[in-house]
Amino acid sequence: MVTQQFIQPDLKWQMDNISCQQAVDLETAPLSAEPGFLLWQKDIPEAYWRLGGQELASRINATKARLAGLAVVLGHHYQREDIIQFADYKGDSFNLARWAAQQRGAEFIVFCGVHFMAEAADILSAPDQQVVLPNMAAGCTMADMADPDDVLDCWQQLEAAGLAESTLPVTYMNSAASLKAFCGDNGGIVCTSSNASAVLQWAFKQRERVLFFPDQHLGRNTGVKLGIPLDQMLVWDPNQPLGGHTVEELRRARIILWRGWCSVHMRFTTKQVAGARAKYPGVTVLVHPECTLEVVQAADLNGSTEFIARAIREAPAGSAWAVGTEINLVSRLARENPDKLVFCLDTVVCPCSTMYRIHPAYLAWVLEELAAGRVVNRLVVPEATALLAKVALDRMLEVH
Ligand code: SF4
Repeated sequence: MVTQQFIQPDLKWQMDNISCQQAVDLETAPLSAEPGFLLWQKDIPEAYWRLGGQELASRINATKARLAGLAVVLGHHYQREDIIQFADYKGDSFNLARWAAQQRGAEFIVFCGVHFMAEAADILSAPDQQVVLPNMAAGCTMADMADPDDVLDCWQQLEAAGLAESTLPVTYMNSAASLKAFCGDNGGIVCTSSNASAVLQWAFKQRERVLFFPDQHLGRNTGVKLGIPLDQMLVWDPNQPLGGHTVEELRRARIILWRGWCSVHMRFTTKQVAGARAKYPGVTVLVHPECTLEVVQAADLNGSTEFIARAIREAPAGSAWAVGTEINLVSRLARENPDKLVFCLDTVVCPCSTMYRIHPAYLAWVLEELAAGRVVNRLVVPEATALLAKVALDRMLEVH
């Protein structure tokens, strides 16, 4: 339970107003009408391109029923509403990874998330389970900012400077499987926004400093929570020798932060926080730790998507929440908590555009193929990579 303040009763009309504005339209445009479809995985058969929302929904439901016990659908909290409604289990990347590690019943795990999450599920699931990502073009822009070759080059520079032995690599879950494998191979570990503090505390028991990638903001915010001074956290720029620092500066650093960020969470600003407080006195500002340090410090609370959902669920009726995270989750929380005011800090819609690529047509396609005995869009992490990545993921699951 978190500390909470109540909004004033005369704001009731504003609650109604905002809830209406944020209601998610369950109408699904046909795939061919989606403006981004040209960039998406286009080898989906043309028969699916023009199907409307209702037909897709009834076909997905019917096929799920046929596959009961054989296939399970996982959905990330940031998924669009016309996908999350089919999820047998929904959660953040940490909980979905843990679910994949624990459940052995289903032969097929249909992962409605993004590429790195499906990779983690493949690594953690049993060898006889197969992971399917409905749209292979659903990636993560933050994960792409840590190019494995660049991280390896960074490590080699740290080795040459005599700093690698005293540095532990920590990768955020939002990274390629090969980077998780790199961590597993070098004594390192994976973290999520749910467990970053516990993971960094564990890391500092192993070595003097941490190389944290790809999200500089989660790394910095967690470092600050642990009392690490800002001048002991440096940003590594992969385009500059030694990341733009001297060997001595790097030696003094406790955390070397990769220069990566989430384009969704970078949209939130301290001005929006001030605006929410001015408009709704008594509002609690709750943001994700992928936001900048300034925004996190201006907020009342910060935490993972699971933390955000729980805080609002457990809050008293009449309380007001300005939330700094992905709009699909905020809108869902607003709908599920009609007795509270829940709204997004950013008035301009800020969806995760890559997660959005899991359109119901893709889900219908992969499920109907499974029902026909064919597996499409199976995601397989090469065995050697998976073995090492699992070492780093297992360390994380033990730390939490
Ligand atoms: S919200 Fe940001 S970090 Fe999360 S999947 Fe989307 S781009 Fe990646």
